[in-house]
Amino acid sequence: MLVKEYVPAVEFLKNFDGKILLASHENPDGDTVGSALALYHFLKKKGKNVKLGCKDPIPYFLAFLPGAEDYIQLPTEEEFDLVVVVDASSVDRLGVPVKAKQFMRIDHHKGGDFYCECDLIEVDAPATAKVVYYLLSNWDADAIDETIATCIFTGLATDTGFFINPNTDGEVFQLASLLVDKYGVNPHYVAENIRERNPLRRLKLLSKALDSIRLENHGKVAVMYVLQDWLDELGAQYADTESFVNYARSIDGVEVAIFILEKAKEGVWKVSLRSKGNFDVSVVCEQFGGGGHKYAAGCKFPLEKPLEEVINDLLKEIEKRNNL
Ligand code: 5GP
Ligand code: MN
Repeated sequence: MLVKEYVPAVEFLKNFDGKILLASHENPDGDTVGSALALYHFLKKKGKNVKLGCKDPIPYFLAFLPGAEDYIQLPTEEEFDLVVVVDASSVDRLGVPVKAKQFMRIDHHKGGDFYCECDLIEVDAPATAKVVYYLLSNWDADAIDETIATCIFTGLATDTGFFINPNTDGEVFQLASLLVDKYGVNPHYVAENIRERNPLRRLKLLSKALDSIRLENHGKVAVMYVLQDWLDELGAQYADTESFVNYARSIDGVEVAIFILEKAKEGVWKVSLRSKGNFDVSVVCEQFGGGGHKYAAGCKFPLEKPLEEVINDLLKEIEKRNNL
């Protein structure tokens, strides 16, 4: 299906003749990695000079994706002709500076920075992977192969919580079905790699994190955290905390879940907010310089601020937005 909004981006990339960096956001998730990898394999097929970059290592649960090993760690001294910011609202979300003559953004977050008329930003898309699918299919649907489709499927599956988050609509299932039937994606293979390969240390860490949960605001807000000491004790990585926040959200009566991760090396408290019901957590995170979506958003606080103050600031801001 040809969509005219995609034509400028297709033409721009088709005619682009320089060094391209596909950049994933820090704390990479399945959507930023799956989307960037789909673009990577496709652009290589089209003879483009393209690299992948991210500040953080690719988490173990995404390492099965072909090409994940090709990521270079950012920052790099290398200067690129074009940096494509994938699944992030601005180049700041890469977490480190990158040198480029030109930027382009392929994303589904609202707001943020705009770089050129061929930016592809669809705030209603459930995942950046869907935007990437439309870009590639408007360019050359026959060049999409099983590998590329698997990367797209991974982005779609992870950002929709494996097809159950509120951003899951009929179109998501239609696209997933096409990726399976036409391009040969194996959903069980993807799910098994992402969800069934937990290191034991992750579960031990989860046990501590679950223990930290407390309820606030008459049971409508759940607070959960992980301290750097716990990570060090277990030899755990930041990526081991992926999706922990969903346990806090899952509690009956909870409408907003707060998860706070102490990242000593970066000197920050990394905050993840999730909501169910009608509360827009992106608005809360924006107050603290972060952002995201209605049901999932994030922000950071400096480690100098005591944890209880961070929690209080968040609780106050949540209460202010009331309808809770
Ligand atoms: P997570 O809590 O999983 O890190 O992120 C949830 C959502 O919020 C994702 O869409 C992510 O891109 C966005 N997000 C997380 N942290 C930040 C941040 O510091 N700034 C902005 N603008 N978005 C963020
Ligand atoms: Mn995304």
